[in-house]
Amino acid sequence: MTHGLMTSVLDRLRARGRRLRRLALTASAWHLLPEEIRTAAQHVPILVRDKPTDREIAEYGIPAAVSGVFVDAGDVDQDAEGPAGAAAPRTGVIVLYLDNIDPCTAEGIAGVLLHEASHALGLDDHHLEELGL
Ligand SMILES: [Zn+2]
Repeated sequence: MTHGLMTSVLDRLRARGRRLRRLALTASAWHLLPEEIRTAAQHVPILVRDKPTDREIAEYGIPAAVSGVFVDAGDVDQDAEGPAGAAAPRTGVIVLYLDNIDPCTAEGIAGVLLHEASHALGLDDHHLEELGL
């Protein structure tokens, strides 16, 4: 194996290791959320990214420094019910931007995840501010 190829393989392995560590951190963060939130939002997909792309900034109307966003698909099934009669989560996806989460620890990610999961459960920023989230 040439030196250049070896370097390229090692770079790819390092990038994959970093990505796996970030996914593991996010999984740990998820388990720090209250059980009721995890149960209610268990089917909401979570995407883990480094930072928003120019396209996402334009498409979602978000600042480059945003730590996370709930992208609401807008087509809520009004008849659906969540577990134990709780409101059904909205249809959409949570996107986390780990480069913008400080500190980027399980606890730091959990704070952002709780905020975005609460949006998925229908709370707006006004409600969340009142709750201190
Ligand atoms: Zn918000």
